[in-house]
Amino acid sequence: MTSTQDYKNLEKKYYMQVVNRMPPVLVEGEGTIVRDNDGKEYLDFTAGWAVLNLGHSHESVTNAIKDQAGKILQMSNLYYTTPQLSLAETIVENSDLDRVFFCNSGAEANEGAAKLARKWGKKKLNGAYDIITTLNSFHGRTQAMMAATGQPHYQDNWRPLMPGFVNVEYNDIEQIKSAYNDNTCAVMIEPLQGEGGVNVPNDGYLKEVQDFCKSKNILFILDEVQTGMGRLGTLFGYQRFDGVEPDVMTLAKALGSGAPLGAFCSKEFCSVLEPGDHGSTFGGNALTTAAGAAAAKFMVENDIPALAHKSGDYMKDKLSSLMNKFSFITEVRGMGLLIGLEMNQDYSSKIVAEALEAGLLINAVRPNMIRFMPPLNVSLKEIDSAIEIIESILEGLE
Ligand SMILES: *Cc1c(COP(=O)(O)O)cnc(C)c1O
Repeated sequence: MTSTQDYKNLEKKYYMQVVNRMPPVLVEGEGTIVRDNDGKEYLDFTAGWAVLNLGHSHESVTNAIKDQAGKILQMSNLYYTTPQLSLAETIVENSDLDRVFFCNSGAEANEGAAKLARKWGKKKLNGAYDIITTLNSFHGRTQAMMAATGQPHYQDNWRPLMPGFVNVEYNDIEQIKSAYNDNTCAVMIEPLQGEGGVNVPNDGYLKEVQDFCKSKNILFILDEVQTGMGRLGTLFGYQRFDGVEPDVMTLAKALGSGAPLGAFCSKEFCSVLEPGDHGSTFGGNALTTAAGAAAAKFMVENDIPALAHKSGDYMKDKLSSLMNKFSFITEVRGMGLLIGLEMNQDYSSKIVAEALEAGLLINAVRPNMIRFMPPLNVSLKEIDSAIEIIESILEGLE
């Protein structure tokens, strides 16, 4: 039998060394539980990076994949295939967007949105092409999305960056207003910054950005790659904010429920892409969209986003109450089941390592901040167990 050490040696020898992996070799999972090759169980509060919103091996998704795999996997978009139409319908009928294009990842979804915005600039704004994005954002790792992502760590080794992106402070409408000029075609932001440290928008911020975009005839793009598909407690994150309706929205992560699938969606008025403007060999592939269609249908029919809202409030309250006990916790913030716990000490890596030992997978999104993003159907009992583990680790830190 291959041992854990053998797997680690294989990885070291053959894989590009671009990530610091955590020790376990994970082989199977069910719901919030995942198991390693030695049979040890973990509570998975990373959910494959906010991807497995219905948990591991969800029956609806597994069956859809099995069923589709026996029918047709791939035909290219030269022909009609049915699962992509079913998913497109679910997205449009449950959102304020009108049209969908499927691709394979979050970065690619944002690239598509950026292409749409530049075409909008070309057609309507005398060729304007700048897209305003925010500092501490995360939009992906392609050449253009590195320029969009306002974090030096993702940019500095790859300069010169692709032109056409301007990074300003998040949560400050005045910065967007002063960055705007005749060459601006869009603003792209996350409704809540995930990777950047679970940064919640100030009251009214998203609506102010939207109103400003409207007043200048530039596109208001929401990157919902992490916040979409129920994570914030509504099917799409923007639906938690009164009066907010993006012109363009991007999705990925949980869209395929584990199958690699992304999408960008737009309102009818700005659907400026025409035949030949964009494409993707695998985009809208029958297998990935079958998984996505089954997951989205299950999510809507069983109101999983509402569950995430309730469980998220429960978890946030419980974590907040730890602040009475541990003075180094400075803030617990987030929405739905995207929650961050911030400290005034760089304890994250120690906490993550000890949690792993204790059977809990969590993510250190910042040296002083832990991020929790369990499956949306996590049970309250599992939340309690996770918090007990965290509490006993924090006790040892004092
Ligand atoms: C993860 C993420 C991306 C990038 O998605 P990939 O599938 O890794 O390319 C883009 N935007 C946001 C908000 C994300 O969280």
